Amino acid sequence: MSNEIWVIADMKMDGSIRKVSFEALSEAKRSMQSKIGGPLCAVLMGSGVADKAEALGKYGAEKVYVVDNAHLKDFNPDGYVKALSELVAKHQPHIVLAGNTSFTEDYIPRVAARTGSGLAMEAIDMGLTDDNRLTVKRYSHSSKAISEIEFKAGNTMMATIRPNTYKEEESPVSPEVINEQVDISDADIKVKVVNLETKMSDRPELTEAERVVAGGRGLGSEENFKYIYDLADVLSAAAGATRAAVDAGYCPYDMQVGQTGKAVSPTLYFAVAISGAVQHFSGMGTSKVIVSINKDPETPIFAKSDYAICGDLFEVLPVLSEELKKALAE
Ligand SMILES: Cc1cc2nc3c(=O)[nH]c(=O)nc-3n(C[C@H](O)[C@H](O)[C@H](O)COP(=O)(O)OP(=O)(O)OC[C@H]3O[C@@H](n4cnc5c(N)ncnc54)[C@H](O)[C@@H]3O)c2cc1C
Repeated sequence: MSNEIWVIADMKMDGSIRKVSFEALSEAKRSMQSKIGGPLCAVLMGSGVADKAEALGKYGAEKVYVVDNAHLKDFNPDGYVKALSELVAKHQPHIVLAGNTSFTEDYIPRVAARTGSGLAMEAIDMGLTDDNRLTVKRYSHSSKAISEIEFKAGNTMMATIRPNTYKEEESPVSPEVINEQVDISDADIKVKVVNLETKMSDRPELTEAERVVAGGRGLGSEENFKYIYDLADVLSAAAGATRAAVDAGYCPYDMQVGQTGKAVSPTLYFAVAISGAVQHFSGMGTSKVIVSINKDPETPIFAKSDYAICGDLFEVLPVLSEELKKALAE
């Protein structure tokens, strides 16, 4: 095994690199690289992506392995599994990190299985043992417990990281770009992307947002979700929801936060008319500051909140949005 630390560059649909990749590079630089002693590297996979290497160098990537292949244009697990598996088998990195996204949830476990690597998904903290084995903390049992995983020695150690867990920090270097050839044929690709529909929004992406305003069943209707969108826009926040609100048709599934939705870890999380079920908490419990608004003084979310406002959302939210607008304008 080499002493290289790798960070996979997670790409957005628009071809830019997700913030979580810079967070992972920054954390690897801060707390792992000097102990392990090898270079900090990034892996860039896609089609026409070579010009993105510079952006990874800005966050400390000294080497960037590039797999530029037409078969990797749109995300498909088969192509990405093949490309990354071949690279890992060839170079045997010590550690491979990636953001926890819907793409990496799909292909990273398959890469770990193919290459015999250890894997922990959705880390909320990481460390190293004295002999440089990776340790990972992650939620288990619907967030009722945090388990700490210690990797065995001898194999590449892989982990995905919950977005917004670590702070990104620039540490510019000029990276050495290594072009890797991976033979991916039509026969390798079992799933073909035939159409891509992108939803445009002025609000930040939910998993990357610094602030999230989420609404629950207590909103009562799709129309009433405008209270959530209004507050979100005042705070330049993303808008989220509980499964109960999504199932009731108040908002689309891509807003769902929780065990069967998205995991978020913002600096500020507003939980409006949300009771705080464990399945919801598992998706937002790592938020730095939780503010809840609920008319039930006994609601479980209050015990998990930094600030609890007991009142009717239809009275509280308009005043809160107005006052915050004024305060932010000042
Ligand atoms: C396998 C499984 C997976 C699940 N995955 C998820 C998941 O990913 N995400 C998720 O969110 N849930 C998930 N759930 C569902 C979860 O168990 C809860 O049912 C759900 O989170 C409850 O949503 P809620 O808080 O909006 O609704 P409720 O629990 O009904 O709470 C509504 C709250 O609104 C308050 N309220 C009502 N009116 C007002 C008002 N006018 N002003 C202020 N407060 C008001 C009430 O006091 C109450 O606290 C999952 C469940 C299972 C079994």
